Amino acid sequence: MKRIAILGSTGSIGTQALNVIRRHRDLFAVEVLCAGSNADLLIQQALEFEPNAVAIADDSQYERVKETLWSHDIKVFAGMESIADLMEMESIDMVLASIVGFAGLRPTLRAIEHGKPIALANKETMVVAGSIVTEAAMRHHVPILPVDSEHSAIFQSLVGENALWEDEEGVRHTSVDKILLTASGGPFRGRTRADLEDVTLEQALKHPNWSMGRKVTIDSATLMNKGLEVIEARWLFDVPAERIEVLVHPQSVVHSMVQYIDGSIKAQLGVPTMETPIQYAFSFPERIESHLPRLDFAQYPSLTFEKPDMETFRCLALAYEAIRRGGNMPCVMNAANEVAVQMFIEGKISFLGIADYVEQQMQRAAFISSPTLDDLFGTDAEVRQSC
Ligand code: NDP
Repeated sequence: MKRIAILGSTGSIGTQALNVIRRHRDLFAVEVLCAGSNADLLIQQALEFEPNAVAIADDSQYERVKETLWSHDIKVFAGMESIADLMEMESIDMVLASIVGFAGLRPTLRAIEHGKPIALANKETMVVAGSIVTEAAMRHHVPILPVDSEHSAIFQSLVGENALWEDEEGVRHTSVDKILLTASGGPFRGRTRADLEDVTLEQALKHPNWSMGRKVTIDSATLMNKGLEVIEARWLFDVPAERIEVLVHPQSVVHSMVQYIDGSIKAQLGVPTMETPIQYAFSFPERIESHLPRLDFAQYPSLTFEKPDMETFRCLALAYEAIRRGGNMPCVMNAANEVAVQMFIEGKISFLGIADYVEQQMQRAAFISSPTLDDLFGTDAEVRQSC
């Protein structure tokens, strides 16, 4: 029985993870549930899954959650610090990191420092602090299992390969030629900049293939999501960004591919559902049965691939620039993007204004070439204050 802590249990990934656990109660149990402010859903989940503890970031909800759960022998905590503290619990076997945004970094790092294997959905953690997070994972011998469907596909295409090794002289070799990271293209694929001038929030939230939280859905529409994923893949698989190529694949059936040095390509395919990669991360190295719909190739007579339009969707180009510049620049880009997406949601800036805002912040931020964790927290706070 694997006892899982879910960071962000009330979100899109969190609720789908609970679907997986509900179907495999013989294999998985919920040890901890954490949410931001959705007390009603958190309480409902706790009553169904009977975790040892729950935590809610929003302190003002503490009394309500406690009042309902105390008689069920479930410990209740509130505040971000208590969420991080809970990651130290001995009884946790795995942590699903599915809080959205920078807020996921601190509890994920704490879990790694306490030896907990991570199922990683929160890509912002890797974008902001990829070098620190991967170094901590190596030091504590902690596996980071990708949940993002593209990264799960890459991971599944790498299993069984001797992809990266060092010879006797310590020289590193790789059999990976490049990673082909697929992108649906989002709701505005094929549009020009002029077409995008007046798009509304409602249009941006209509993703053609995936149902996700608001922030990642807007990121998919701007292609910033793909930019964040390029950076995430760079750290997860130790492949430089120049060898990570984005391919727009509107059907979202090929979830990503690895091209090897002999020209062979391995891919993972399936229907677009996050429950498959979540389940694989939970059960790895085993594959376990799933009753999710099977891919019917007859329903997809053509699978198409095209290059992304980085002039219209500038966020993707900005992400390549951020990783090329390195240091705290991906952190600046991520914070600026979180702020800009929120401003777009609130109607304060236009859709195209998101990329403009991110670019401005990347131009004006102080560059730190080898940031410490404190530097990254400082950078994030500075960008948010300057908005
Ligand atoms: P949602 O917005 O649906 O859910 C976010 C979750 O994080 C909620 O449980 C929310 O709680 C919680 N949360 C937000 N802020 C805080 C905070 N400060 N402290 C504690 N908890 C907090 O997001 P998604 O599930 O869509 O995405 C989660 C992560 O997974 C993102 O990084 C995203 O990029 C990534 N991802 C998502 C995919 C998807 O299909 N949804 C696919 C691949 C990756 P509350 O509900 O109470 O606000």
